[in-house]
Amino acid sequence: MTDSTIDPLSLGAAARPDLSLSGVTKAFATATALHEIDVTLPAGKFSVLLGPSGCGKSTLLRLIAGLDHPTAGAIALGPDRIDHLPPKRRNLAMVFQSYALFPHLNVAENILFGLSVRGVPKPERQERLSRVAAMMGLSELLARKPGELSGGQQQRVALARAVISERPVCLMDEPLSNLDAKLRAEMRSEIRALQQRLDLTMVYVTHDQVEAMTMADHIVVMNAGRIEQVATPRDLYAHPATVFVAGFIGTPPMNLLPRTALPDIPAPAAATTIGIRPEEVAQAGTGHPVSARLRGVEYLGADQIVTLDVGGARLVLRQSGQAPPPADSLSLTVPAPALHFFDHAGRRLPSPSDHFPPT
Ligand code: ATP
Repeated sequence: MTDSTIDPLSLGAAARPDLSLSGVTKAFATATALHEIDVTLPAGKFSVLLGPSGCGKSTLLRLIAGLDHPTAGAIALGPDRIDHLPPKRRNLAMVFQSYALFPHLNVAENILFGLSVRGVPKPERQERLSRVAAMMGLSELLARKPGELSGGQQQRVALARAVISERPVCLMDEPLSNLDAKLRAEMRSEIRALQQRLDLTMVYVTHDQVEAMTMADHIVVMNAGRIEQVATPRDLYAHPATVFVAGFIGTPPMNLLPRTALPDIPAPAAATTIGIRPEEVAQAGTGHPVSARLRGVEYLGADQIVTLDVGGARLVLRQSGQAPPPADSLSLTVPAPALHFFDHAGRRLPSPSDHFPPT
């Protein structure tokens, strides 16, 4: 890695540099928010930083953006370190939770603000504005003020402002959290389509696993300032590397039972926890037999969530809403490919599910 200064305008989308972080640590006076983060966020891919509140994902994004500085470590775009550059020289576009639109400027002026500051000539600004406004469905709204727009329209203006900059890397911090559920679902697919169409290197922060699973090429799962796992959504679901990831992904998440609750299931000596996805437990079929007592049923229409007691531990089962109401005492089967084993430190051990690729 060299320590040269990059020219922010020399990197068109064609250069497509990976964004890499090595040994990135951030210590505040009261706490260390990030511990030696090593990760590469590939060019042209949609990377999601996912984790619970306080895990350090916004701090990591702020360090990439240059809004704060790491205590140690390096951040590079391609071969060039950028951690010493001010935000405007990093060749990044940013969209934050608060759209940060100027209330006194109209939509066109808001979208063009960055280009005007950068001194892009007027005819080129107008050409880019009509192209981006058409792409984002904003052509009819250019004369309106932000206060005259819906939340989704304001979000599109914030996105348009990022897109018009034509920067190859785009950072987004929970950009959809102010929207209602329906609009959020629509914007998820719009942002994903835009990222693919423009071949953007996207770094997207969220605590919402559904957002992460539906949008990402790969997900960086964070916990307490450390990376737990970096994987595709399918691989994360099928082969969680830790108990934390297993318990964070999935609705309901993977069942994590003490091995002692399932004494008849053959497991490696080091296994202390056995993981089983709620949809992979059946009431018939081939697999390890397990007897259970009913604790409760939550009917959700298409599905029902059945809570059971197995050897003193809680086991949640997801089955079709069409299934008959379960009896008080049940015989279950757990197929071998459904088994995930974890050691006392919460790390994945070789498991039967390893032999089954994500479907
Ligand atoms: P959320 O989803 O709630 O925004 P997050 O994962 O983005 O959470 P961060 O905002 O990155 O988490 O914060 C990570 C940790 O660093 C937290 O423990 C937070 O209290 C701490 N922290 C963040 N900013 C500062 C600061 N300026 N001074 C001191 N501690 C801070």
